[in-house]
Amino acid sequence: MNRFYNTLNQELYPRLPTSFQNLACTLGGWMRYRSRFSAHFHRTLGDWLAHPNRSVDELHELQRSRLDSMLLAARDNVAYYRDLARPSQKKDPVQAMAETLSEIPPLEKRAYRDQPYAFMSRKALRPRLYAAQTSGTTGTALPLWHSPETLAEEYATVWRMRQQVGAGVDDPYLSFAGQMIVPFEQETPPFWRTNYYAGQTLFSIYHMTPKNLRAYVDAVHTAPARYVQGYPSSIHLVARALLEEGRPLPKGKLAGVFTSSESLLAFQRETIEKAFGAPIRDRYGVSEFAVSMTQCDEGRLHVDMEFCIVEVEVAEETEEYETGPLLITGLSHDATPMFRYRIGDVGTRAKKPCPCGRAGDSFLEVDGRIEDYVLTPDGRLVGRMDHVFKEQLEVAEAQILQRDTSEVEVLIVPRDNYNESSQRSVIREIRSRLGGEIGIRIRLVGAIAREPNGKFRAVKSEVGRNAP
Ligand SMILES: [Zn+2]
Repeated sequence: MNRFYNTLNQELYPRLPTSFQNLACTLGGWMRYRSRFSAHFHRTLGDWLAHPNRSVDELHELQRSRLDSMLLAARDNVAYYRDLARPSQKKDPVQAMAETLSEIPPLEKRAYRDQPYAFMSRKALRPRLYAAQTSGTTGTALPLWHSPETLAEEYATVWRMRQQVGAGVDDPYLSFAGQMIVPFEQETPPFWRTNYYAGQTLFSIYHMTPKNLRAYVDAVHTAPARYVQGYPSSIHLVARALLEEGRPLPKGKLAGVFTSSESLLAFQRETIEKAFGAPIRDRYGVSEFAVSMTQCDEGRLHVDMEFCIVEVEVAEETEEYETGPLLITGLSHDATPMFRYRIGDVGTRAKKPCPCGRAGDSFLEVDGRIEDYVLTPDGRLVGRMDHVFKEQLEVAEAQILQRDTSEVEVLIVPRDNYNESSQRSVIREIRSRLGGEIGIRIRLVGAIAREPNGKFRAVKSEVGRNAP
């Protein structure tokens, strides 16, 4: 089914007239709205909003009871977790969770990738599940499945944060994300499409040349909107254009700007808040829907403790904080449970409570989502190129390197079933984002080197360093 939609998207959509593309975006928006904002979503969000001041003890109790029932269900229904020990009987929830988790070795992405079906619960009804992929932080495609309840709770974490600044589910908005909604060849505005159902204006992040950005500035002023969402790298480019033209949005027009998927850098925050006249609220989430952290007024990322458990493998520690790789356990992730999943990001957890007053775990920062832009011969900065590999299941690992604007070099660690058609598919995906002018050199390699800090970078560009 996914393959069918992909073909539709790649082959048919770009040939439709703009008005039909708007209809397609509207249909997509309707389907997303229906799946996200279900009865379970409203129930969950309603419960969380009704208990805004849960104490840290209450949150730990809640985590413990969810962890125990997930674990018992996994023992019964998930092949990979058949031999898990029973949950700890200790009375204190913090001690109990620590003991329960210490019996489970951390889960590596590789272990999941090698046998994803071994993680699927026998109780999960396949036709109900939403299939997805992630490019992860290692340029590797992973197949994922989510139950409608997981999806609903993921969006409950998103909307608890958004409602705090006054944005509502039915408000109109502008989005800047990775979908290819405007055909690459299009040279004149509109570089956006409309989802009439949700009042969403979807901007292409692949047409942001200095010349085209003028049209974006006009559209940001005229399209109805109460908030903005998307990748900080793309929103930042538009923010800069708004300021350069001396046309920032009037303060208070928007309730907030909601960024995710990449690390939000300090200079981006400043420019974006100034240009859009609204506060930024960043969120750390992952395609696995197994962790959520949402930002408060103080700029800290609070763990949504009803939804997940986050452990830090401490590598560095002071009196104020502890830093290290994150292990995440999604408490709503029932279709393919993962315990202590090593997500590949590094976080710095504060040891003292946040001055904002919200109880529970909070992070000063989460790092690991910084990627470079690729700079094309015609002067466009294109972010999130790691998305190219989202659907490439024949690619084990990949990295895009760029030394000058004329060419990109693509390192690929092939799987056994990698063949010429996989290669064509990779090139097609890259061309659809970067255009026909740039040179693409593919090199098959046995491994891809990590950075000195051990992290993987999917895109490294000397001309498109992540601060444009
Ligand atoms: Zn706070």
